[in-house]
Amino acid sequence: MIDLRTGIGHDTHRLVEGRSLRLGGIDIPFDRGLDGHSDADVLIHAIVDALLGAAGLGDIGQIFPDTDPKNKNRDSAEFLLEAVRLLNDRGFRILNLDTILFAEKPKLGDHRPKIRQRLADLLQLDPDRINIKAKTGEKIGIIGREEAISAEAIVLIEKNLKGTGTTS
Ligand code: MG
Repeated sequence: MIDLRTGIGHDTHRLVEGRSLRLGGIDIPFDRGLDGHSDADVLIHAIVDALLGAAGLGDIGQIFPDTDPKNKNRDSAEFLLEAVRLLNDRGFRILNLDTILFAEKPKLGDHRPKIRQRLADLLQLDPDRINIKAKTGEKIGIIGREEAISAEAIVLIEKNLKGTGTTS
């Protein structure tokens, strides 16, 4: 028997002056950054929500509340590592991850290989199981007007059934 679960995640942060831009655990050179309590890494936040959702563990705000001072300016890579640990503890392993970044600027295409490798390292996953897509907002809406950057993620995870008495 195969026990597969999917999860989706979405996040949006406001683009502001005076903050640095980090996406997928990588610092991206740009004249603005994302506002938020942590480092506001919108891609990692979407991935964490997808992972937690797939495992039925709620959402990022429940596990890492922005009312907790210890999460202030925190490296979101730590949220991702903690989410992976929660899944591993429950016998889940990640099969693949697909993501979309929505940004008018900066152009993110050239950064995709580095983000993919960073996520592969954090998730302990082969890079070919990770995909990063980048879209603009066609100059309309909050993305197109450069007011925000958004991200979406979808994951497939598998529950290890060893030890449950199930035969296949
Ligand atoms: Mg967020």
